[in-house]
Amino acid sequence: FAKRNGPQNYRFYQESMNANALKRLTIETQLRNGLEAEEFSLAYQPQFDLKTGNLSGVEALLRWKNKELGQIPPMEFIPIAEESGLIHPLGEWVMRTACTQVKTWQDQGIDLPRIGVNVSPKEFIHPEFISNVKSALADSGLDPSALQIEITETLLMEHFEGTAKTLEELHKMGVQVAIDDFGKGYSSLSRLQELAIDCLKIDRSFVSAVDESFRQKSVLNAIIAMANGMDLGMIAEGVETKEQFLFLQEKHCDEAQGYMLSRPLTLEQAEEFLQKATMQLNDQDPYSSLDQ
Ligand code: C2E
Ligand code: MG
Ligand code: MG
Ligand code: MG
Repeated sequence: FAKRNGPQNYRFYQESMNANALKRLTIETQLRNGLEAEEFSLAYQPQFDLKTGNLSGVEALLRWKNKELGQIPPMEFIPIAEESGLIHPLGEWVMRTACTQVKTWQDQGIDLPRIGVNVSPKEFIHPEFISNVKSALADSGLDPSALQIEITETLLMEHFEGTAKTLEELHKMGVQVAIDDFGKGYSSLSRLQELAIDCLKIDRSFVSAVDESFRQKSVLNAIIAMANGMDLGMIAEGVETKEQFLFLQEKHCDEAQGYMLSRPLTLEQAEEFLQKATMQLNDQDPYSSLDQ
């Protein structure tokens, strides 16, 4: 590359490498202060039961706004947090904040059955992971069944033995586990069956394929049928159009999440949304006035 393009381009190449390395370093340095500076927050994206239309849960999505760098998407800072080990304190913060927030909402009378928390492979295979989850649950008082941990297929296939044990323990605790972005990686379906998993989150790419061809649709249809056959729950991710929504409903997908239904909400927006959803639910119920 250097030879073919001459010394000038080589220098340019080097400089852009340095720029990348510098950006990375800046992100890492800022990440280190981020927790103390209270720069992190959670966004909450609602999920809906496709049969009843009711709210079935929310997914917690990490947000970072730094004073120098501005708002940085998780796809940019999470890999750096993983490599630098900062994912551990950060992940613990996410777990605690998510559990505490849902418990607070539930105590306010809001009907929110579940929260999904993304856990990166590094966190999941860490020896302290289970005890961190236990203490987040104990300290918040949240019912373990209201917690759904989201992990990826890559984790399952690369660390099968260790993962299987941790999944068993979570299952014993009553915590739910979902496979995020399902279908995007390549899990061995037979091994999947051996694991204590509750739910598949169907990757957005299969959902958006609904607008394309019959062949594409049949892949999505097959995933739904498989999940139903294996008695796993399923949440379709990234639902953006009415066509996608109707297709999922018709094929008996359990739940859906996506921009068409709701974007990820800030804490304030989520509070307003949840109040309304709870009020609507109470209005639908003819016996709700007898509850007191
Ligand atoms: P994910 O867990 O698969 O989360 C779904 C992503 O899709 C979110 O992006 C969400 O904002 C976005 N999304 C939701 N509905 C739609 C839709 O209809 N269309 C499209 N195009 N996108 C939609 P976000 O918040 O940028 O997060 C990206 C990824 O970062 C997440 O993917 C997850 O892997 C990771 N992540 C987020 N929060 C955390 C966290 O607390 N811990 C860890 N370890 N990873 C996290
Ligand atoms: Mg997720
Ligand atoms: Mg996903
Ligand atoms: Mg089912």
